[in-house]
Amino acid sequence: MELPFAESYKMKMVEPIRRSTRMEREQWISSANYNLFNLKSDQVFIDLLTDSGTGAMSDRQWAAMMLGDESYAGASSYYNLKNAIEKIFGFPYFLPTHQGRAAENVLFSTLVKQSDIVPGNSHFDTTKGHIEFRKATAVDCTIDEAFDIDSPHLFKGDIDLEKLENVLRAHPRESIPFIIVTVTCNSSGGQPVSMKNMREVYAMALQYGIPVCFDSARFAENAYFIKLREEGYRDKSIKEIVSEMYTYADMTTMSSKKDGIVNMGGFIGLRSEELFRRASTFNIMFEGYITYGGMSGRDMNALATGLDEGTEFEYLETRIRQVEYLGNLLISYGIPIQKPIGGHAVFVDAKAFLPKIKQEEYVAQTLAIELYKEAGVRGVEIGTLLADRDPLTRENRYPGLELLRLAIPRRVYTNNHMDVVAAGLKNVWDRRNEITRGYNIAWEAPIMRHFTVVLEKTK
Ligand SMILES: *Cc1c(COP(=O)(O)O)cnc(C)c1O
Repeated sequence: MELPFAESYKMKMVEPIRRSTRMEREQWISSANYNLFNLKSDQVFIDLLTDSGTGAMSDRQWAAMMLGDESYAGASSYYNLKNAIEKIFGFPYFLPTHQGRAAENVLFSTLVKQSDIVPGNSHFDTTKGHIEFRKATAVDCTIDEAFDIDSPHLFKGDIDLEKLENVLRAHPRESIPFIIVTVTCNSSGGQPVSMKNMREVYAMALQYGIPVCFDSARFAENAYFIKLREEGYRDKSIKEIVSEMYTYADMTTMSSKKDGIVNMGGFIGLRSEELFRRASTFNIMFEGYITYGGMSGRDMNALATGLDEGTEFEYLETRIRQVEYLGNLLISYGIPIQKPIGGHAVFVDAKAFLPKIKQEEYVAQTLAIELYKEAGVRGVEIGTLLADRDPLTRENRYPGLELLRLAIPRRVYTNNHMDVVAAGLKNVWDRRNEITRGYNIAWEAPIMRHFTVVLEKTK
């Protein structure tokens, strides 16, 4: 008999979680203004809001924390992290920041000015926020297959070279500070970018004299997909694949809360000393001195170890197979989800799930609320609320897809928890025809409204 797959770790510490009743949850979500970000964590049984900063650290990481050096300048923890980043990514210069958006803030303060154009593959919301905040424009050049939820394309994070070249041709070089390649592409469903595409984008960028910046939050998961899906990489280690990926980037912003497997942290990686110098000024102003920039020594140590563990095949296999496990369960129940299943989350097609709810009534948010009420599972809307308003016309932007994202924290839940999530969603699926009312916005912030929006049930 073939031995079944099992996790590549065992547990040494646990954290109790509590189930609640449907009545409790109905009251809690109403008090939370139907915004799942407003729930207290103990009102949630299984929390799939995000895989960002929610992972479990290993014994090696906790041990590394005890050796943290909290010196203001030149701490050994800084050098541990610097060495890890140089070894894994090949960047000789780096700046620590408190998280990914802080890295964006520092780097974009250095490089992005009003009226600039920043092409890329489905920019992440904070990335887009930091571009638009500077009155520049993010242009999405992702391949069309990314927006077809059933397309079996193996690299739906790829950049469409024709779309990219059109942007590069239409604007002067000075108004395009860099091209962003998001690996994996969070906003299009945790879908990977192929090595071939990275290589081609870099070649085109070189031809136009424009640098390439990788948004690296899930770089290791991207490397795992390259190993499994792209010809010529099966026998390469994840670390070898990552090394090659970063020969096609001039710089990177990183949210270490994802594939760094730490609870807080980020960094900028750079090849150019001149750019490092310029960015250092902003890092000192916004984050902290250049050898800690928003991170404590112990956290830099944990990240150095996390980057090493996070680029090991056994760890990535355990992680991504769990995401697949949940996705395949939902498929077996007939629930419409994005395929192929992404690296960090399962994305449920809310428009297909709840055809009676109009997009103007926030259909993916409606589904997220129903799943919470059903099973105490917290997912997140990736739809019209997140897409926000057009900065000029102030009209709602209606994205092609309305998705409920179920993001799986790293090394936190077991497949039994995944069974509960799937059964909860199946119960909502079975009564989907009775769900006929969506939500209206009662109050919203001028930018990144989804975090704080106040909703009320439609009449
Ligand atoms: C999470 C994320 C960010 C922002 O990082 P934070 O640590 O949340 O500030 C940027 N880009 C991508 C692709 C991300 O997933």
